[in-house]
Amino acid sequence: MKVTVLGCGPAGLLAAFAAEEAGCEVEIISSKQPSKINGAQYLHEHVEHITDPDSFEMVTFTKVGTKDGYAKKVYGSEDAPTSWDIFGIGEYPAWPLQAAYERLWVRFEDRIENRVVIGREIDEVLGDTDLCLSSVPARGICLKQDQHRFRAKPVNILTDPLIQVRNLVVYNGREGEPWYRASNLFGHSSVEYPAQFGANGYKPIDTNCDCHLDQPGFHRIGRFGQWKKGVLVTHALHDAQRIVQTAKLALGVKP
Ligand SMILES: Cc1cc2nc3c(=O)[nH]c(=O)nc-3n(C[C@H](O)[C@H](O)[C@H](O)COP(=O)(O)OP(=O)(O)OC[C@H]3O[C@@H](n4cnc5c(N)ncnc54)[C@H](O)[C@@H]3O)c2cc1C
Repeated sequence: MKVTVLGCGPAGLLAAFAAEEAGCEVEIISSKQPSKINGAQYLHEHVEHITDPDSFEMVTFTKVGTKDGYAKKVYGSEDAPTSWDIFGIGEYPAWPLQAAYERLWVRFEDRIENRVVIGREIDEVLGDTDLCLSSVPARGICLKQDQHRFRAKPVNILTDPLIQVRNLVVYNGREGEPWYRASNLFGHSSVEYPAQFGANGYKPIDTNCDCHLDQPGFHRIGRFGQWKKGVLVTHALHDAQRIVQTAKLALGVKP
């Protein structure tokens, strides 16, 4: 069975890994440059063959100020859902995402076809594969960009040694301080600010785009591919595993 993955960021390469481990022929099409892993990003679980089970470190999460103040800074509204409640104050295991991504990059680099894909090329891609798992930002392959809504919040993530204690993440809902999250993860420090202080990235919120989703074999994966909140890199791994298994059953391919 052939699986074509669009995008070579952490989500795309984890999906490619899942498909290959399941015995599929894998093709990757992407604008070919390694993604920058900005901000407080880490793997929330061990991935067999990609992370070392013992390479996790415990990360302490703490909060100052209020949940409403945090939501207002991040999304401009006190009612907006955020990850404030997902992480209680305490310690959580974290695996290094950068190291995992570097390992995936080494495995797949030679097989990434350097190509920018646009919406009307998805048909052609699907004509040559059994499954297409797209992690490229959904807006980039939307066929109705003038009609479909893509809500996102611009962010400004700076490398800044504000937090010098290793493996500490601070959520800041205090008024009068512009930054809302600062972290030191595996020795790398960063601070996230709302966009009024300049933007160097964005957080997808939601979309009503349904382009290509009615095409058999086409699936969107990853936070940018699905264009929604709360999507972790490892969700792309598990989604790819599930999609491949389902397709194998449907095609009568041996599991
Ligand atoms: C502030 C922030 C913190 C986060 N923290 C975490 C965390 O701690 N843990 C976690 O698991 N997740 C986290 N996430 C969610 C998300 O999983 C990560 O941001 C992750 O690094 C995104 O990887 P990706 O592969 O989905 O996207 P990207 O790394 O952006 O990859 C997209 C790929 O698509 C390619 N591409 C784009 N357009 C095209 C096109 N038209 N044609 C071909 N190729 C194209 C790009 O070149 C790139 O290779 C966080 C997100 C944000 C915004």
